[in-house]
Amino acid sequence: MSDTAPGLIDGFGRRITYVRLSVTDRCDLRCHYCMSEHMQFLPKSDLLTLEELADLAGILVDRGVRRIRLTGGEPLVRRNILTLVEAIGRRLGQGLDEITMTTNGTQLAPVAERLREYGVRRINVSLDSLDGDRFRAITRRGDLDQVLSGIETARAAGLVIKINMVALKGVNESEVEAMVAWCGEHGFDLALIETMPLGHIQGDRIHHYLPLDTVKRRLEKRYTLRPSMHRTGGPARYFDVAETGGRIGFISPLTNNFCDGCNRIRITATGTIYGCLGHDQRVELRDVMRSEGRDGVDRALAAVMAAKPPRHEFDIARSRPAVARHMNVTGG
Ligand code: SAM
Ligand code: SF4
Repeated sequence: MSDTAPGLIDGFGRRITYVRLSVTDRCDLRCHYCMSEHMQFLPKSDLLTLEELADLAGILVDRGVRRIRLTGGEPLVRRNILTLVEAIGRRLGQGLDEITMTTNGTQLAPVAERLREYGVRRINVSLDSLDGDRFRAITRRGDLDQVLSGIETARAAGLVIKINMVALKGVNESEVEAMVAWCGEHGFDLALIETMPLGHIQGDRIHHYLPLDTVKRRLEKRYTLRPSMHRTGGPARYFDVAETGGRIGFISPLTNNFCDGCNRIRITATGTIYGCLGHDQRVELRDVMRSEGRDGVDRALAAVMAAKPPRHEFDIARSRPAVARHMNVTGG
């Protein structure tokens, strides 16, 4: 590691300290808003190996990245993923402040203890419904009890849990209050997410698009929401819920007002670096990493920093997705 390696600062002076690293585009679920039923996944031979991902994470930490979130697809369906968690976890306290994961929770129960052992302290679990039939309908195949048992095991293992719920008009909007109450009872934070126009799916997202200011107004009839000081550098605005003692984040990526403070980049499982979730600007890293090692990675990072766009280009009203790739490719 070079002590003099400069941090990652983009053309607008934003310091990049947070990376979302997708470890696979595959998933055992098929959430309607995320994927179509029949997805063409990438050939496994195109993916960065776990060793390459670990090396890459090490370089990122050398370059000033302090938080790494593993995502996907579903990160826990990647075989031997815990070896990567363990490798990245070794940098905790040595440049890295935090390793986290976003998961659908289906495979969580058997690995929760080891995640904690390797240094994970917080995870996000996606849960769009507490009703088994509705959960199965949204995910096209998920078993709610399996996910609830994963969440419970993770909680018992000492992991702090945030629940991610995509708010969908006419699908789960009637459940938001119940989800706030359930999260309050269990001590989980809740992030409510607006559907984002990423990749073609069967059907049209506009039918299920539910603006979160509507959701917030409804919640305020029952709960007292006080603006929280909690900030992540992302699109979430947080509120403390007086009645439950919990916290709710509203993630409305279709508003632009968070881009000025953006601190993150995203890297896919094949090594494509994206400067922004809502933009096609990208730089390929895998081949230069294989041919030139660390120098190739540094050059790719420099290219991303030079061209990272000032803001996203989401627009739910357009008939085509703003960005052709699916969320499972870039990671949430
Ligand atoms: N499979 C894991 C999961 O579901 O948590 C991690 C990857 S998933 C792509 C990350 C997050 O993105 C999930 O919370 C999911 O609900 C959300 N997501 C997926 N597609 C989305 C879309 N088009 N708009 C908004 N959120 C989306
Ligand atoms: Fe899989 Fe997560 Fe996409 Fe659902 S949101 S299909 S769990 S990657």
